[in-house]
Amino acid sequence: MLDDTKFQYCPRCGQSTLIKNDNQSLLCSSCHFLYYHSTAAAVVGIIEFENKLVLTRRAREPQKGLFSLPGGFVSYQESLEDALRRELKEELNLDVIEPPVYFSSHWGNYFFRDVLYYSVISYFLIKIWQTENLKAGDDVESFQLVKPNELDHDSLAFEPDRVILERYCRFRKCS
Ligand SMILES: [Zn+2]
Repeated sequence: MLDDTKFQYCPRCGQSTLIKNDNQSLLCSSCHFLYYHSTAAAVVGIIEFENKLVLTRRAREPQKGLFSLPGGFVSYQESLEDALRRELKEELNLDVIEPPVYFSSHWGNYFFRDVLYYSVISYFLIKIWQTENLKAGDDVESFQLVKPNELDHDSLAFEPDRVILERYCRFRKCS
């Protein structure tokens, strides 16, 4: 945990007395501040258009230039569905009309600015009927429509997307 966060000093009392409490938390032995490096919730959309999926190309680090399914982290006081609607509007200008259908989940590691974050990613199915209004935005450089069985898995930025897309292909029998 200390290795993941690189914390050196207690954020409350400023002493260099942080010790490992358990696998997910740090304890300050001076002021007894307890910090949980908790799992962060993330949501991702498997957007189906005809027999293709929408993949986004990442404009920023980590994994700039590689592809991922669109989505992001859940903000405070947001449901998974609200977070998904917000992210897909920001990244693709997509208005999610019908309720997203939960598909599956996977854990992930996310290394950002020298800190290792742990996440759990919920994947939802969303069907769309046209793509004219889609427009790349936020941390998305561009998007493309790909047949899942023709997808180059080496071009994917994140391992959870690989695992879930294989699960999706078994589910939809897309090979
Ligand atoms: Zn302290």
